[in-house]
Amino acid sequence: ASLLAQRMRKARPSPTAEISVKVRALAAQGHSVINLGEGELDFPTPPHIAQAGIAAIEAGDTKYTAVPGTPAMKQAVIAKFARENGLHYQAEEVIVGAGAKQLIFNAFLATLDAGDEVVVPAPYWVSYPDMVGLADGVARIVQCHEQDGWKLRPEALEAAIGPRTRWVILNSPNNPTGAVYSAAEMAALTAVLLRHPQVLVMADDIYEHTRYVPGFSTPAAQEPALKERTLTVNGVSKAYSMTGWRIGYAAGPRWLVDAMQVLQSQSTSNACSISQAAAVAALQGGTGFIEDWVLLLAQRRDRLLQTVARIEGMHCALPEGAFYLFANCQGLLGRSTPDSTILRTDLDLAAYLLDAAHVGTVHGSAFGTPGYLRLAYAVDMPVLEDACRRIERACAALT
Ligand code: PLP
Repeated sequence: ASLLAQRMRKARPSPTAEISVKVRALAAQGHSVINLGEGELDFPTPPHIAQAGIAAIEAGDTKYTAVPGTPAMKQAVIAKFARENGLHYQAEEVIVGAGAKQLIFNAFLATLDAGDEVVVPAPYWVSYPDMVGLADGVARIVQCHEQDGWKLRPEALEAAIGPRTRWVILNSPNNPTGAVYSAAEMAALTAVLLRHPQVLVMADDIYEHTRYVPGFSTPAAQEPALKERTLTVNGVSKAYSMTGWRIGYAAGPRWLVDAMQVLQSQSTSNACSISQAAAVAALQGGTGFIEDWVLLLAQRRDRLLQTVARIEGMHCALPEGAFYLFANCQGLLGRSTPDSTILRTDLDLAAYLLDAAHVGTVHGSAFGTPGYLRLAYAVDMPVLEDACRRIERACAALT
């Protein structure tokens, strides 16, 4: 008999982390491996931000902080929401945690009873269903479609909401598809949510700044009547290339933020003091470098799209945000590799690309949508070009 709790059946290790383990193992054997599997920008954390972290250590800023974040960090978050989103919060409505991930997890843990449902549009970020399961909830997956630009249709949202629904997750720009909801598209969804006052809204805005289209819409700003039941989650990981610093923040109704604070106080206490100081510098500093990054990312996106377009059996529409292609690879399934293995699923294809081309990608099934591959273009252009050549060659070898 297992000594593990029943709840451990409801979670699996993050598939993206598993790919990285395989990539590192191949690299350790001396292979040149390119990882297009990781959801992490390759850019270094900008020096003015890193320096603020160093200064915090030197100033002895190395002790516990207030559970929901230092006063300076909370003020920086409040100013960010006001300046960039037109959202106005009090300090008691804001919480800082060890990544957006921890905050989303705590929000579910604080609100879900056994059997409560969370509407999760697919393709979804790999962690949502597992987090919901660990909190005893049930993920109600709603499949979105490539022909809709991967966007959740208002009528699909309406149909998914039932008496047990506690949350709806909206993630724009989306991981893994890069879909960005326009103000009009967001308004169509918030109109549905307005009709269901018992439902909380999880706005995961972590890719807000990684956009190739103008205009960013977040539910609480789009529909102010939803603000009192929306948790707006964001962080510095993707915008400022600070994944390892582990700082996320969220704002929402006080009763919810209070409950999340209780959970944090009994688990991790506070986010790293040094990282909070660096995140203050990030949020208060200029954002010109982000525009430069987005230009670079757009070039990489276009380069990778070119390759995908050239491969017979693969295709992908132009993503509007984030740093992923979610490429349709259904035309490659059923084909044989040079050693006569038939690629039956997206998993087989990802395994083949890793073995034969030494390129790490993530199978679409990990995001709830089989028949696709997620390719992250968070590597330098020469490396990306090498990856493109390898993928093209490996796909051309299929019969
Ligand atoms: N939300 C989405 C959609 C993500 O892709 C990620 C990271 O991959 C996160 C949240 C978590 O970000 P962090 O915990 O680093 O703030």
